[in-house]
Amino acid sequence: KDFRNNIKPNWCPGCGDFSVQAAIQRASANVGLEPENLAVVSGIGCSGRISGYINSYGFHSIHGRSLPIAQGVKMANRDLTVIASGGDGDGFAIGMAHTVHAIRRNIDVTYIVMDNHIYGLTKGQTSPRSAEGFKTKSTPTGSIESQISIMELAISSGAGFVAQSFSSDLKELTSIIEQGINHKGFSLINVFSPCVTFNKVNTYEWFKENITKLDAIEGYDPANRTQAVNTLMDHNGLVTGLIYQNKERPSYEQLVNGFSETGLVKQNISLEKDTFDGLLTEFM
Ligand code: SF4
Repeated sequence: KDFRNNIKPNWCPGCGDFSVQAAIQRASANVGLEPENLAVVSGIGCSGRISGYINSYGFHSIHGRSLPIAQGVKMANRDLTVIASGGDGDGFAIGMAHTVHAIRRNIDVTYIVMDNHIYGLTKGQTSPRSAEGFKTKSTPTGSIESQISIMELAISSGAGFVAQSFSSDLKELTSIIEQGINHKGFSLINVFSPCVTFNKVNTYEWFKENITKLDAIEGYDPANRTQAVNTLMDHNGLVTGLIYQNKERPSYEQLVNGFSETGLVKQNISLEKDTFDGLLTEFM
């Protein structure tokens, strides 16, 4: 069960994405997967390269579109564990509509976002996760837009699994990814993954000083939706751990009518020659 391949990541030394890669590899092994049971679909951005760095099926897709592809993969082959991944720009700007609708749809995909609060690949512009006042080349006098509260948005959209972690905490991150893979339905895992090259504000030290671990909050219950939202608002979203889980919400696959349980790739689609020729005639 070795999910490592021989490709050397071309991330900057110290980039938080290295830990996310390691955590996915460890979590996949810990839940008993083999490389041929896992598909990793990524978007565009520094973090989008991750699908090439894991020994599994991989699909480096297009900007903001990892989720439609990942959902298609899962519906076509239910036997695969499917992880979608990308950055906060990829998932919460150009891909935001897909994120919300994937939450609503609830297909069994684990979506891991490497959230560095900036666009790294294009050399440092404000992202939807940048705070107000954040200065970059695209906002030289400070961003005048508000920061998206992605965890609250996910919960209010009906998400059944919402969690957050930090690149510096590999143990927690691995555990959260294991729980996300084991959850039956869509799971959103936002990872604070610092960009050491372009974000000089939201650094490892900054996150360490500002994060509250949910484990440390007495009486915190991830099944309590109201408590989850209130806790996020009280801490400006800077909490890590399992924030909310609804184990009762059925997945899309369980609810959809008339869809084979085996998925398209396991269905017998052999056609008689006459049928095939008929289809060709019909669609030409
Ligand atoms: Fe990571 Fe930032 Fe370097 Fe991209 S630019 S690889 S996000 S440290």
